[in-house]
Amino acid sequence: MLRGIGTSKGIGIGKALVLPKENIVISNKTIEDVDGEIQRFQDATDCFIKETEKLIENLINKLNGNDRNAAVLKNQLYLVKDVELIKGIESSIRDKKLNGEAAVDETCNGLISMFAGMDSEAMRQRVADIEDMKNRLIRIMQGITDIDLTRLPDNTIIIAEEIHPSVTASMDTEHVVGIISERGGETSHASILARALEIPAVLSVKDICSLVNNGDEIIVDGAYGEVFVSPIERTIRIYEKKKAQYEESVRELKEFINKQTESADGHRYMLAANIGNAEEAAKAVANGAEGVGLFRTEFLFMNGNSMPTEQQQFEEYKKAAVLLKGKPLTIRTLDIGGDKDIPYMGLTKETNPFLGYRAIRFCLDRVDIFTTQLKAILRASAYGNIRILIPMVTSLSEILAVKRLVKGICKSLDKDDIKYDKDIKIGVMIETPAAAVMADVLAGEADFFSIGTNDLTQYMLAVDRGNENVAYLYSVFNPAVLRVIKNIIDCAHEKSIEVGMCGEAAGNEYMIPLLIAMGLDEFSVTYSKVPETRKNIASWTIKESLSILDTVLGFSEEKEVSNYLNDYIMGRH
Ligand code: PEP
Ligand code: MG
Repeated sequence: MLRGIGTSKGIGIGKALVLPKENIVISNKTIEDVDGEIQRFQDATDCFIKETEKLIENLINKLNGNDRNAAVLKNQLYLVKDVELIKGIESSIRDKKLNGEAAVDETCNGLISMFAGMDSEAMRQRVADIEDMKNRLIRIMQGITDIDLTRLPDNTIIIAEEIHPSVTASMDTEHVVGIISERGGETSHASILARALEIPAVLSVKDICSLVNNGDEIIVDGAYGEVFVSPIERTIRIYEKKKAQYEESVRELKEFINKQTESADGHRYMLAANIGNAEEAAKAVANGAEGVGLFRTEFLFMNGNSMPTEQQQFEEYKKAAVLLKGKPLTIRTLDIGGDKDIPYMGLTKETNPFLGYRAIRFCLDRVDIFTTQLKAILRASAYGNIRILIPMVTSLSEILAVKRLVKGICKSLDKDDIKYDKDIKIGVMIETPAAAVMADVLAGEADFFSIGTNDLTQYMLAVDRGNENVAYLYSVFNPAVLRVIKNIIDCAHEKSIEVGMCGEAAGNEYMIPLLIAMGLDEFSVTYSKVPETRKNIASWTIKESLSILDTVLGFSEEKEVSNYLNDYIMGRH
């Protein structure tokens, strides 16, 4: 068995088609006829553009009109038309007398080494996309036609050194049941597309091309990153069974995308998603989320080299609100500090960043930055159902300060005749022990609560959430954490406000019956976990959940809780 990185789940069993290694040889012959060579390059560019437009069309058809995954090919189109790139190639032909292929190679390599040196993994991945464009352009000039993948036999497993965007776009994906390559990872174009098309994929499998012959029987397990070459009959039988089980569970989960969120005895819940940018709002809806329970806005600030302007923020929030078509969008105000640094803000290094200048503390100090964000959120609230969520609150005065600020901004918007939601709700994240203990008081001022168990667990147990040495202590099932969660929910309900949970625990299989029993109103989970969470909720009755909670609250140690839940839930499977 060979191992790689499983980047698209599922099991594929089929016959190998090994794509030939890219063997582009470029001569260093210089040229005499400069104009003729430039013309040859321009003809190749025209041909590239036509070919790429066709590939984009094919790809969009395969993805049922969804064009987001065609972005790489669209970028190749922009790039090939880029004035600077064309100038660079043409001047290499004119000034250095390089032949067209060599000029393309040299100029694109300059660009590739720039991207390869970048810090971000996503930027480095773009190297493969530019390389694909370069090689295709050169192949067109050399008159080499690409291998035809438009008609493939049933159950084909594509194996290549690297799967380029142009390969996936031209591939007869109906008949491809697996993708394996020697290079690439989670964010490679091939992985993104494989996930969108639900084709199992394992990337970065060392030497796979030389270990496999065309027609060899192959098993790909995209969940575990495993590849079997010419497996024995018994292994094939085992994997056929696993494949059937996996496909059944996917079918079953898909049915939960469009269902209501309710317990087995018909009690309704709100099931929302956590997102990090506006685009993910569309993914949340596609996965059946009833709204967004947490929009982590810090990514907007972390992705660029400078502060996003009010207009940029407004557009991002508005985009998410519009995508949600009236479903609630809970925007958390800037939560930086702790493990999230933003270099251009020049924050000083602190000895205890998690206990330091973070989230609402930062925002109430940098009122200029906070006002800009609040104004952008308020303006966006005219376009959907937006709620504001304040992170890391430890005292009532912080909520009151935010409310005063919001009131002031509303006045100035009124003066300028700018529309916004006058009833916008302001909620509080309960993620510090102080907020948890004072929940009864905070509930008097907050419009809703959202429990942030990721931080609440670390602060309650004094365990750094990112420190491996103490990770064994970090558990939401510690009775101390469970007791405060119950207190928070009870306090919210006493003051008749809704309470959700947006920490990871909201989607935890073992936690769900406890939260049902405690009466949580809203679960907010990573968008891809929405169907699974809905299925989980649907499997419990209030009566059974209450009896589990009763037992659990009688324990005094984390181990007792987790062992009990493990035995109980395993017993149901
Ligand atoms: C949390 O703390 O539970 C939470 C949802 O916020 P974050 O993980 O962004 O700190
Ligand atoms: Mg938090």
